[in-house]
Amino acid sequence: MSNVPITVAYGDGIGPEIMKASLLVLQEAGARLDIETIEIGEQVYLRGHKAGITDHAWDSLQRTNVFYKAPITTPQGGGYKSLNVTIRTAFGLFANVRPCASYYPSIDTRHPMMDMVIIRENEEDLYAGIEHRQTREVYQSLKLISRPGSERIVRYAFEFARKNARRKVTCFTKDNIMKLTDGTFHKVFKEISEDYPEIKSEHWIIDIGTAKLADQPEQFDVVVVPNLYGDILSDVAAQLTGSVGLGVSSNIGEEMAMFEAIHGSAPDIAGRGIANPSGLLLAAVPMLIHIGQGDVAEALHNAWLTTIEDGIHTRDIYQTDRSSQLVGTMEFAQAVIARLGREPERLRPVHYGQESPMDAHMPTTTIVSEKALVGVDVFLDWTDADRDPQALGKKLEAEVNTSTLKLTKITNRGQNVYPGEVHAAFFVDHWRCRFESPDNQPVTHMQVLELLQQANAAGLDFIKTEHLYTFDGKAGYSAIAGE
Ligand code: NAD
Repeated sequence: MSNVPITVAYGDGIGPEIMKASLLVLQEAGARLDIETIEIGEQVYLRGHKAGITDHAWDSLQRTNVFYKAPITTPQGGGYKSLNVTIRTAFGLFANVRPCASYYPSIDTRHPMMDMVIIRENEEDLYAGIEHRQTREVYQSLKLISRPGSERIVRYAFEFARKNARRKVTCFTKDNIMKLTDGTFHKVFKEISEDYPEIKSEHWIIDIGTAKLADQPEQFDVVVVPNLYGDILSDVAAQLTGSVGLGVSSNIGEEMAMFEAIHGSAPDIAGRGIANPSGLLLAAVPMLIHIGQGDVAEALHNAWLTTIEDGIHTRDIYQTDRSSQLVGTMEFAQAVIARLGREPERLRPVHYGQESPMDAHMPTTTIVSEKALVGVDVFLDWTDADRDPQALGKKLEAEVNTSTLKLTKITNRGQNVYPGEVHAAFFVDHWRCRFESPDNQPVTHMQVLELLQQANAAGLDFIKTEHLYTFDGKAGYSAIAGE
């Protein structure tokens, strides 16, 4: 069998030590790899590459499509982009897969039966990083969730469950509040779950769901979540296993994939030869399966489990009542190498020998619907008249009032403040003024511009507009509280 080219980065801090140890184990386990080494991280940032990566490194990633990455240090101070976010978006790495399993009794945990996989959407949500300061008092961040993006990640989660003989997929959202964004993710989850009748599916609101996951993690199997919730939840789950230091993250795209430990570059212990290489070493397991070398993944993972079971532990997981020998980074790697070919006795051995790589091409549907513009939310920066909403409402009705678009509501921080009396604690300088066409008659862009011209003539500082559309007659915008 021929070697598979992969790109390797040694990273910063403890990165070089744990990568050297991991590659040694990979070599001794018989991994068939052609390694291209690239430089990323702190020194590259400090040489002026704001994303922490050079053109030469991009070329290698494009060539191999497999990235085995040690942790890097992000320099303090502004202006630097997160390399992980840059790589995820540039290569469309839409799925972040994090297994979170306990290794009890070898590693202490309050949840010995825990064995879940968190599948986090990796490209959308608040991570688009589209933020604005709109007034002196108010800032916004745009949460973008797409239907195809949701379909891809949810289907990936069900395919993953099917391939790995897992019984249940759980979805977490906050769709009782975010009915359109999280609502779409949940709706897609319900639709796609019907294609997998043999797999149980359930949905939890993220707040109570997280509480349940923290209390009874053994109740969960595969979990699929939008980006931000997944970021938080996967660290909570990794911590519950007893050691974040063993956590692994696979970032999967249709063409490219990146494999790494979840911990950082640990500058506090760098260069001392005491770091635990397990997170990075275990990240090689899904990488080997991904490139069709399940046999090597199996040998490596079972040797690692046996080492842990034998109590050969680095300082971060060493406990006098559970460990037999305290070792450094390279000694740990040598101990794993010495156990290649063995299986653990108390911990559950793994079997990937015949495993085929998972196809990451997930089909998405094309949405055809009748879209109509029926109104506009005009956002104002307004502090006149002691911020009295009645005064603003009367001014708009008198001066910003076209034949097609009529003021229907004003809100401040989402609360309905006009028409009607309000007893709000305070009003900020950011007002949403909703103008709608009577009976939802379609309006044109020119009619919206006419409205804005009137607002301009009235001396109002409009800072943003959001168009109100219907799709097949159904509102594509949130109702105003109190409606
Ligand atoms: P960290 O994970 O590097 O360290 C947190 C603590 O865990 C430290 O006490 C450290 O000594 C310990 N630790 C981490 N990995 C260990 C290991 N393998 N063996 C033994 N102990 C280990 O988190 P941090 O200190 O918040 O971040 C340090 C740097 O890493 C920052 O610059 C951060 O931006 C970066 N970082 C990078 C990645 C990545 O490249 N994927 C991820 C997280 C953080």
